[in-house]
This record gives sequence, C-alpha cells and structure tokens, in this order.
Amino acid sequence: MPEFPEIHAHARRLEASLRGTVLQRFEPLSFTALKTFAPPPEQAHGAPLQQVTDRGKHLLLAFGEVTFVVHLMQGGRLKPDTSKAKRPRNGVARWHFADGRRLLLTEAGTERKAGVWVVAGDPLTQEPLADLGTNADQVGADELADLLAAGSRRLHTFLRDQRALAGVGRRLANEVCHRAKLSPFVQTNRLDAAQVGRLHAALTGAIADGLAAEEGRDDMSASKDRPSQVHGRTGEQCPVCGDEVREVTYNRYTVNYCATCQTGGRILADNALSRLGVDQEDWGRGRRQR
Ligand SMILES: [Zn+2]
Repeated sequence: MPEFPEIHAHARRLEASLRGTVLQRFEPLSFTALKTFAPPPEQAHGAPLQQVTDRGKHLLLAFGEVTFVVHLMQGGRLKPDTSKAKRPRNGVARWHFADGRRLLLTEAGTERKAGVWVVAGDPLTQEPLADLGTNADQVGADELADLLAAGSRRLHTFLRDQRALAGVGRRLANEVCHRAKLSPFVQTNRLDAAQVGRLHAALTGAIADGLAAEEGRDDMSASKDRPSQVHGRTGEQCPVCGDEVREVTYNRYTVNYCATCQTGGRILADNALSRLGVDQEDWGRGRRQR
C-alpha cells in the first residue's frame, strides 16, 4: 500500500502536471467508486484544479469549493489515462479535463476498496479525514512520546493506526521498528525516553529516505522498489548485522524483523493465541505480562 512518502510525492507530481487545468467532468466507473452522496461531483465541473495535497494515505484534489479525496488502498493508482478505452481495465473513476487530458483511478485485484469522497468546505474536518492522527512526517518527539504513553498497544499496531499517526503502513512500520532496534511487539507505554527518541529518529529517517527515493521518479513506485532493510526481505541478510531477516504472522498480517537487532536474538512464533483474542507474551522485553 502506498504510504506517506509515495502519496506526498505523487500529490506534488499531479499538481505540477495538472494545476490550473479545468475539470470538464468526473466519471465514476464502478458502483463503489463514489463514497459520498452530496455534494454531487458535478459541482466541480468547470472549475480549475487549484491544488493537490495529501493527508495520511489520501490524495486531495481541490477544485474551487469542492475537493475530491482519493484513497488508493492496497492496489489503487491515480495516473494519466493514456488509453482510449470507454471502460478501462480496473477502472474506478476518471477525471476528464478541458484540455483533453484525463486522470484515471484504477484498482488492481478484486477488493474494490479504493474510492473517492466529494466534500465541500474544509476537507480536513470531514470524513474520511476528520479522525486521522497527526501526519507521520509532522509528529514531534514530545507528541510521539505522549501518543505512545496514552495506551498499552503493540508498537507495530500503534504505528499503523491512522488515528494515532497518519500515513504509516506495513512497510514503514517494519522499517521504523528495525531502525529503532525495537521489537514490533513491545508495548508502547513501556518504552523509555531513549527508546522513544530512537523511535522518533527512525520514523523521521525512514520517511525522509522514502521521500528521497520517491521524489526522483516520474510515477509512483511499485512496492518492491521502495526502500527497505527488512520489509519484504524474509530470508535475506539484515544489512545492519548480517542475521537472517525473519517474518512472523500476527493478527493475519506479516511482520518482518531481525532478531539480533530487535528482539535480543529471540525468534518470534506465529501468534496463534491472537486468533482466540488472547494477548500473548511481550516478546520485546522477553518477559511475560501475566
Ligand atoms: Zn540485524
């Protein structure tokens, strides 16, 4: 899934290409494309694209008083439509511009979760953006410390919670935990000041690296081309210590980590108990909670 660096760089790219171009019409291509009933997308017809911004994992296309909020989800892409197809493959929605260009939202696969919200007024105070936490690139060290201390949650789960921090997905969560030399399953309210400091530096660094990689590109990268030291690298060597990168399944998602760097050498077992709703031992500190 595209995360903050990919989305942010893509917003800049789209704005550079299309700013000032008048929208002729918006065309939903699937039943699930449009997530809102009012205002109608037609309200943006005839208005120029003023800016393209981003919030968390969302792209915001502002036409006058109306903003289209786009969520790409897992396999979505928003890019120039170069086909002449009336019903483009995997098409979700299309923006037709007065100069003849078109922007096409596609979603690969069968999930059909990518979509478009049309909002009037300030989009940041409305669905689907209203409940998002601070953008991950903007969070300060003190704010991060407060967020971590506010609850008892697994670090990896916390990092991916869009209401805590917006813009972090599985790749960044894996990379941030590895950079910070913290177990993905350490409980957030048990982190000490030094660990929180490492975490903040890791978050900032991983986002900066992601942006640097993404900003030099003509189009959004594929998942496999994004910078990673452990994410998606099961069985490869950890570039820091040479140990093997491992994976563990937790609550139906796969987490990559390096045991030497992050868990004091402890190899994590797939969390069978989580399927029964039972919390498991705190692997990160090697001690049991109960
Ligand atoms: Zn390592």
